[in-house]
Amino acid sequence: MTRKEFIKICGLLGIIVPFHTSCVTSSLINHISSKFEGKVIIIGAGAGGLSAGYLLDQLGIDFEILEASSDFGGRMKINTDFAEFPIPLGAEWIETKGEIFSEILNDDSVQLDIKTIKDSPDYKFVNSSWFNFYEKYIVPSILDKIVFNSIVHSINYSEEKISVSTSQGLKLADKVIVSVPLKILQAGDIEFTPGLSKDKQSVIKNALIWDGFKAFFEFSNSFYDSGFEKIIENSKTQQKIFYDASFGQDSDKNIIGLFSVGNSVDKYNSLSKSQLRDVVLEELDNLFSNHATSNYKKHISQNWNKEPFIRGGYLTDHADWKEVRTLSESIKNKVYFAGGEYTDGESWVSVHTAARSAKKAVDEILLNTEHKKT
Ligand SMILES: Cc1cc2nc3c(=O)[nH]c(=O)nc-3n(C[C@H](O)[C@H](O)[C@H](O)COP(=O)(O)OP(=O)(O)OC[C@H]3O[C@@H](n4cnc5c(N)ncnc54)[C@H](O)[C@@H]3O)c2cc1C
Repeated sequence: MTRKEFIKICGLLGIIVPFHTSCVTSSLINHISSKFEGKVIIIGAGAGGLSAGYLLDQLGIDFEILEASSDFGGRMKINTDFAEFPIPLGAEWIETKGEIFSEILNDDSVQLDIKTIKDSPDYKFVNSSWFNFYEKYIVPSILDKIVFNSIVHSINYSEEKISVSTSQGLKLADKVIVSVPLKILQAGDIEFTPGLSKDKQSVIKNALIWDGFKAFFEFSNSFYDSGFEKIIENSKTQQKIFYDASFGQDSDKNIIGLFSVGNSVDKYNSLSKSQLRDVVLEELDNLFSNHATSNYKKHISQNWNKEPFIRGGYLTDHADWKEVRTLSESIKNKVYFAGGEYTDGESWVSVHTAARSAKKAVDEILLNTEHKKT
């Protein structure tokens, strides 16, 4: 069970249930002998796109990653100035077992140096983050294949070669892996020719994509229990949690995190920095007997709705799994989908599910090549 499922259950039952996921996907990558020999274009350098590129690189397949912004990582973004440990502005928890790292790396020879701590029901990185994991283990081998500031506007897969039109010109490919946030497709930022199937269009159009917001407040004293987590909102339309963000870190800083998705973001959406400070401190003063304002030092925030190439938080936890599966379906052995929102429908919108969906997309490319040859 992931943290998201956990807070869903807490909301319903008011109890804590220990549980573990053990979903290790089997992959063709290490078992298939034939090789796809064309070129793959991956759109988006978040967890999904980076994982796909890393696997293609392992297989010796030609590929390029087109990233609209000037950095990789997408919703794994961190802040490195606020504290002596990285502040995770998006993905923070490891919502599965520790084996996920070697599963993503798909290479037993890599010596992993990752410290994690149990933060029930999930794990957290100690003085590190999902971004740092990708930066250290995934990106070095593929950095020269990422084209930054390359905004994809359209994908035409009507001819044998697929044409991808970008802010830097036209690119040609044999396969395309789309790994942009679902909100980008919902907003129509990328045009598909021929158009997507009616089913896919309908799911994209009707998907509820939660707004996403996080803030971190530093205090001069700890007036709260170590490792506390206080669920403020937890419903089908929103989640909001205050928590001890420096829990388990090698740091004596006192930092409270605010995680807010869905309608609960409304309250913070249009506030200035000082307004946000006042609003959040008032909430914390109410929770902690007026200790917040008097101990306040500084804060930062991240509004995911305002990121031009992300535009929101993520697909609601309460989406229909069949619809998620529809989102992940490939088109005509040419266009594939990978990322937090394009999964097998078992779980979604986590870094590890984005990585697993990338493995599935690469598997499919290999499998389609196999079928062609037999
Ligand atoms: C507030 C918040 C908290 C979260 N907490 C957790 C957590 O604790 N644990 C966890 O596992 N997950 C968490 N997640 C979810 C996790 O961050 C995502 O599921 C995962 O990072 C998504 O990866 P992705 O590759 O699918 O998409 P992204 O990371 O969004 O990457 C997509 C990339 O596509 C690029 N792009 C967009 N449009 C274009 C275009 N037209 N052309 C080219 N490139 C484009 C973007 O710039 C971006 O880099 C959280 C997310 C949010 C928002």
